[in-house]
Order: sequence, then structure tokens, then C-alpha cells
Amino acid sequence: MRKALIFLVSICLLLSVFSSSAFAKQNHPSTEGNTNISSIITYDDMIKELKALEKRSKGELEVFTLDELGYEYSQSEQGRDLYVAKIGNGPEKVWIQSRIHGDEPYGTEASLHLLQMYISNQSSQYRQVLEELTLYIIPMYNPDGSEMNIRHTVLSDSGTRVDLNRDWATGAFQAVESKAWYSYWTDVKPDYGIDIHHQGLKTDSQTGEAITMSLGISLAPGGPTLPNLKDGLYEDITRQMQVYVYDALKDYGFINIDRYTTGSSRNGFTEIDIHGGVVSAMMLGLNYNNLNEDNYSHPAIFFETSGNTREGNLGQRARGHNIRQNALGIQELIYGLASKEVFEVDAERWNEIPRPDIIGYQTDHSGFVPVGY
Ligand SMILES: [Zn+2]
Repeated sequence: MRKALIFLVSICLLLSVFSSSAFAKQNHPSTEGNTNISSIITYDDMIKELKALEKRSKGELEVFTLDELGYEYSQSEQGRDLYVAKIGNGPEKVWIQSRIHGDEPYGTEASLHLLQMYISNQSSQYRQVLEELTLYIIPMYNPDGSEMNIRHTVLSDSGTRVDLNRDWATGAFQAVESKAWYSYWTDVKPDYGIDIHHQGLKTDSQTGEAITMSLGISLAPGGPTLPNLKDGLYEDITRQMQVYVYDALKDYGFINIDRYTTGSSRNGFTEIDIHGGVVSAMMLGLNYNNLNEDNYSHPAIFFETSGNTREGNLGQRARGHNIRQNALGIQELIYGLASKEVFEVDAERWNEIPRPDIIGYQTDHSGFVPVGY
């Protein structure tokens, strides 16, 4: 009935490659310039919070910049330092990045909330995580876009806007942020990747209920790319990771999860299969500038934290709630990786997570690919 409204306020739109079309504009209007940013965490707030957390952690949390590590490319286009928060002493490494899209603020707050949980909680579950894993948390991948409240970064020499989530690709790497984070990634060589995005208010296409979180894999399971990577290994692990989150969060109540889709009921729903997205490039083992000659790769997924920044106090209450729930979802996944419970999950249960039927895949390599191509 009200299906046309379903994705009207989605702001993340991983699919920006298509956003120039009237179709995409109509269905995914940008909130640029309209978002109430007075309550949104700034770059300076983030630094202050990170330093306070580091102090409280008594040595457990390390906060540093890529400049301090001595990287050739170490700052944003506008010269802001790029911050990493590292916690844990385990052999397996998890890369958790937030706010690659500057106008999607909740990821920064969710990752700070996550850090707070690890620092203040001494339970055996948390201890196990920090013994088994090392977490590399990037609370603000795109500080310039965040300060400008825009999706992109802006190249300092030409003024060109670059979507950093399309900039890890052969012939890309236009922005210094991409060179910096990519170099660091090739040195860290994580075992798993998590990318936190933020979408606007979204409702279930069947029930009309508010969706609090969408689970996504940027190379679609069953799509043109993922089944062929490592004989399907990453297709299995990424689905296991997401099903684990789905199972863990279902029990908390007030949380409603679906699978990330693009498109609309009118024009047909689609999934994305984007090679130039950062977490996709991680799975594809992209070798840029001979920094990754052995094509190191690992499974990676993304979350779309839901919420609305434009509904005053009501929106603010839902916002805090959603940030907490989503930080909890990430924390559950991290525990599942530390305990290896993730690998006991039946990957096929990915199909149990609600999603409207799709007509095909939106790609940045082969155009639109219909289902059953
Ligand atoms: Zn996004």
C-alpha cells in the first residue's frame, strides 16, 4: 500500500554510482545540508572522546594517527589527521571502519559506543574477545566529508568530489584518504572487515515496521562475483557473520533487521555488486601500487545503522536507541568471531533474513545484471 514510501528517506545509498539518474534521486534524496547536525559528533569531539577513552582504559586502548605511524599519505585532503583506535591483544585482526560517507554520522557514535563497552566491561565475554582478537577501529574514515556534512571528500587541488567508497579500484585512488587507509590496510592485513554505514528511516516492505538495521554484503551472495572468490569461502563466511548478528539481535527486542537492498517496489528491488567499494576491494585482494603483491584478501561485510536525524526529540530518542542496538550487534559479531561460534552457523540461513524479492544486481563492472543471468 505505502510501498512507494519505503525507501524514500534512505540516505546511505551505497549505490551512488547510479545517483545521477532521476530514478535514484527520486528514491534516495540526499539529506545534504538538511540534516540537523547540531547534535552530531564533530571531528574534534571524536578526538576528545577517543583521548578520554584511552586515558580511562589504563593502557588497554591505543589511539594514534597514521601520521604518527609515519605513513607517506597520512592526512585527509584538507589536512586532518586520520585516527585509529586499537584494542585487544589477540592474533586475529578485525578492521572496523565508520563514516566513510561524511553525512552518515551514526557510525562514528556506534564505534565510540563499542569502545566504551570494551573499556568499561570486565565480563569474561569481553575478556575473551580482547584475548582472541585485536580490533582496529576507525571511527571517522572521512573527516573532511564529516565536517562538511557531505557524503564525499573534496580533492584539494581540483575541487572534485570523490566518493571514498568507490575509490579503492584500479585506476582510482584519487583521494589521499584512500591512499592512506589502503596503505595502512596492507600493513595490518586484517582477518575480517566491518564497514558501518548509516541509512535514514526505513520500513519493512511487508509489515511496515521500522527497520533499525540492514545487513549487507557489497558483493552479493549468489551474484556475479562472490560465489567465485576462494571457491565460495567468502560467500559462506560473510553470510555466517550476518546470520550470527541477526540471531543475536533478534532476542533484544525493539530491533528489526533486514537485508540491504536498493531500488524500490515500483522499479524493482536490487542488490549491489560493487567492486570499487572498500570492503569489496578487501575481498577481491586489490593490489594498488604493488602494496599488496600477494593479493591478500579477507571477508568483509557492512551494516546500515538506521535512524532519522530530522525528527527533533523523537528522532533523537530513536537515534540513541539505534546507536546502542547497532553497537550491540557489532559487539555480538565480534564475540562470535572470537568464540568461533560464527563458523557454526548455517550460511544458507541468510535467506531467512527478510528481504523483498529482487530483480537483479546493480554493479559497477557490468551494468545491471538480472537474476538468473
Ligand atoms: Zn554509506
